[in-house]
Amino acid sequence: MVHCPECQSTLSSSEDIAFEETEARTGFVRASKRFYTANCASCGMTIGSGVAGAKANGGGAT
Ligand SMILES: [Zn+2]
Repeated sequence: MVHCPECQSTLSSSEDIAFEETEARTGFVRASKRFYTANCASCGMTIGSGVAGAKANGGGAT
């Protein structure tokens, strides 16, 4: 179980996490990828990040 380090909210479902596109905000990712951060829906603390819109590593078994 993941808990927010800021407000200790339990992050058990996607509803507890707010995904925010940071491409325009940060500007350091200008490739054809979209960069997202995962924020706590309660306090807005950034918990994690990831790239969406890009293929996962090739060669992965299904
Ligand atoms: Zn929080």
